[in-house]
Amino acid sequence: SDSLTVAELAKKLNREPSEIIKKLFMLGVMATINQDLDKDAIELIATDYGVEVEEEIKIDTTDLEVYFTEDDEASMIERPSVVTIMGHVDHGKTTLLDSIRNTKVTAGEAGGITQHIGAYQVEENGKKITFLDTPGHAAFTTMRARGAKITDITILVVAADDGVKPQTVEALNHAKAANVPIIVAVNKMDKPTANPDRVMQELTEYGLVPEAWGGETVFVPISALTGEGLDNLLEMILLVGEVEEYKANPNRNAIGTVIEAQLDKGRGSVATLLVQNGTLKIGDPIVVGNTFGRVRAMVSDVGRRVKEAGPSAPVEITGLNDVPQAGDRFVVFDDEKTARQVGEIRSQQAVQAQRSEKARVSLDTLFEHM
Ligand code: GDP
Ligand code: MG
Repeated sequence: SDSLTVAELAKKLNREPSEIIKKLFMLGVMATINQDLDKDAIELIATDYGVEVEEEIKIDTTDLEVYFTEDDEASMIERPSVVTIMGHVDHGKTTLLDSIRNTKVTAGEAGGITQHIGAYQVEENGKKITFLDTPGHAAFTTMRARGAKITDITILVVAADDGVKPQTVEALNHAKAANVPIIVAVNKMDKPTANPDRVMQELTEYGLVPEAWGGETVFVPISALTGEGLDNLLEMILLVGEVEEYKANPNRNAIGTVIEAQLDKGRGSVATLLVQNGTLKIGDPIVVGNTFGRVRAMVSDVGRRVKEAGPSAPVEITGLNDVPQAGDRFVVFDDEKTARQVGEIRSQQAVQAQRSEKARVSLDTLFEHM
């Protein structure tokens, strides 16, 4: 707190309270032993004794969201768009993610073992695009439930030979609710039974009207299998990115979201993070969800060891003392002490919350049996 009683201040300064009262009196402040002194009075006395008053650090431990502050326009530069692929089962999400990765991540970029880290970046016309390789809806729903917005653009994959299906509608509703622009990829165009007009017609009923029909939604015919139309799709993503002007400030402490995390036998807690603002560096003191640590090692999406990761970059880190959850926010602090402080309080709070949840559940079971 910002105030101390005369007695408390005396104790801190190793003096008798009467001496403090006398000093206050000399400075024109009438005080009793249990009186609260404000910050100014405390400073006045402390300075008189030649003691410097340390500003108490104001830290928020309950909600990491408070650290997701806005940057002023001048400090921000363009950043890659972060894209998720959604759509009905078997319409080609996995095939599309794989074929973009395979055709666009060149062999020269891969640093040996190409590993799966839950997200990857590709380059098109000299600009980067980040793809989240999440298991579609599940991850999107978890992340949204936790209030963590991580996607800039959604690719809605619809098989041209199958049309709009329940999960197509579910996906477009998710994207609309999150206010995320949708690009429709009309997939499986290589099939003789492909009927893209039907897809356009059906989606128009859900408010996704093709540009060709006077609407605002971009439809791109593709074949994830043959690779046809993929360049066009990537160019459309860049175009939407340009219009939306996604920006970030690379010169600040990193903040972002956990894509996935697990316990590795040899390396301990391993977490894939999406840097959403700032630059993440080796050695950074970091709080991730209810855990904390120091960034020990970083591995890029192509399995290469890196020293830093800028806005929109996915990166795998080690050095946390526990395993966070997908959708958890992360925040880098200036010093390890603050990160530890915030992290320890948050992990205690999480344990506490778990206990009371358990207590509640056992009470419920108790009542069930009455
Ligand atoms: P997901 O469930 O949306 O991830 O769908 P998958 O990517 O697993 O694809 C389901 C099936 O459709 C697989 O057998 C794919 O090979 C096939 N498939 C995906 N894209 C295309 C395409 O463009 N053309 C054709 N002919 N088949 C495709
Ligand atoms: Mg799949």
